Amino acid sequence: MLYKRIIEGFYIASKIKRYAHFAWGLRGFFRHRISIEQARAIVEQRLVDREDNFLRLVERGIFGHRKSPYLHLLKQAGCEMSDIRDMVRTRGLENTLLALREAGVYVTFEEFKGREPIVRNGKIIPIQVRDFDNPYLRSYYEATSGGTTGMAARASISLDHTIAQNHSILLSYDAHSVLNLPTAIWYGILPDSTGMENILRGSLFGNLPWKWFSPVVIRDSKASLKEHLGNLGTHYIILMGRLLNVHIPFPEYVSLDQAAVVAHWAANVLKTHGQCLIRANVSMAMRICIAAREEGLDLTGVTLMGGGEPPTPAKVAEIIRSGARWVPNYWFTEAGVVGWGCAKPVDPNDIHIFKDAIALIQYPRQVNGLRTTVDAFHFTTLLPTAPKLLLNVESDDYGVIEKRSCGCPLETYGYTEHLRHIRSFCKITGEGVTLIGSEMIQILEEVLPTRFGGSPFDYQLLEEEDEKGFTKVSLLVSPRVGIIDEKKVIETVLEALGKNTLSVGTRAIWSQARTLQIKRMAPVWTSRGKLMPLHLARLSKPSTAGKAAGH
Ligand SMILES: [Zn+2]
Repeated sequence: MLYKRIIEGFYIASKIKRYAHFAWGLRGFFRHRISIEQARAIVEQRLVDREDNFLRLVERGIFGHRKSPYLHLLKQAGCEMSDIRDMVRTRGLENTLLALREAGVYVTFEEFKGREPIVRNGKIIPIQVRDFDNPYLRSYYEATSGGTTGMAARASISLDHTIAQNHSILLSYDAHSVLNLPTAIWYGILPDSTGMENILRGSLFGNLPWKWFSPVVIRDSKASLKEHLGNLGTHYIILMGRLLNVHIPFPEYVSLDQAAVVAHWAANVLKTHGQCLIRANVSMAMRICIAAREEGLDLTGVTLMGGGEPPTPAKVAEIIRSGARWVPNYWFTEAGVVGWGCAKPVDPNDIHIFKDAIALIQYPRQVNGLRTTVDAFHFTTLLPTAPKLLLNVESDDYGVIEKRSCGCPLETYGYTEHLRHIRSFCKITGEGVTLIGSEMIQILEEVLPTRFGGSPFDYQLLEEEDEKGFTKVSLLVSPRVGIIDEKKVIETVLEALGKNTLSVGTRAIWSQARTLQIKRMAPVWTSRGKLMPLHLARLSKPSTAGKAAGH
């Protein structure tokens, strides 16, 4: 017990120090503004310097960093800095990355997260998750954490990177004519960083959101320390901003079933301003539109912009039916923003790749446990501000990369490649929450059979959309298993997830949305006679489309 207290004490101290450093760094940040001209010039320059930026990162962050996991991979491939330099000069960046991938220089998502060891040529490469950190990152609170806690927060909030990424986002806002619109966001508070990132972005663009609706409120005695501190950190940053005359709105609690509150806000703003912007995850955006319809509100003039999960045709159709416009964006949490919706899209998830910041290649890989082969995305970071260095890191997404002339402003800035038909091959998403397959597998194969009987073959997750287009995750429990109280099964799953990935806030969203439901039927087996713990109905459908992290 005492031991636990001491650990908690250290945790609080490191967190408070981190938020304090962060808020201190914000003093300069809040005075910073980006103009269209600046953003344009910076993106243009980065596109020119793309190969040099890559080579510099490899030279300093990999060859100059003896703990870099990529160094082991490059050594195994017999690849020196001079080889990479020659290859980039003669073949170009993407072809170099392909050649490196071919030679075994890549990291899977599970390896990147430290959930699986990196084994190549029968040898385990000894690494720690923090070895992927960008050793040259100038961050305001990096030095305080010691790399032991709060990895997610560290990967997602870095002020330098926030500024760097927002040049491309500013151009995207401008391309969609939403830069100066009255704005509301519907995202949780810290430690989920999406809401705060939207606030900081508003400050950089000189247009702070008017409203911050939060589906999460911390007044629950069950909330973890991390969440209490996140709440405190959120308010601290808001007050800091206000002291500096930056009027950040305080979060207002709006639960998922109160989407009508957001819809009414939009309808009222439309009366006076004609247009407005709402930032929310795909499912939440859809909730707003359904609520609007039920309340008899017309959302013509509203732009809904978000990601967080695949904006499937059913979801987007529901959004558009309300009169609102839908603009998707695509993130890979570990790398940051990947791209933004085209202003003249050919389908609801037509994304321009921000190739000044990210290099993206595809390479075939077999989906675990299935005979399906997909062209998996491999990401490489190019900006020196990236919190993590990525060199051919898989995201578990795949799709189509195409060069197409769309005629929208983003093309004129040099963003000529589009991403379409993005899908995930081993993640489960629902209400903007992403679960990693391997974490769920342990619950299905160990936790549930131990508690309720049956075997790993009696439990399976099925992801599908209901008739309204909401993503529902059903837990299939074989009728052979004698379960008296189904609620107990769901509670057990949510509890077990809580220990690993799900925060109290996320759990609250899932319970409110009743995202997880039980179906008493036999798990679905593949035609090859295999039982996958996660049955992704989407894999067999043609063109759903996708997402990554929150935002
Ligand atoms: Zn376009």
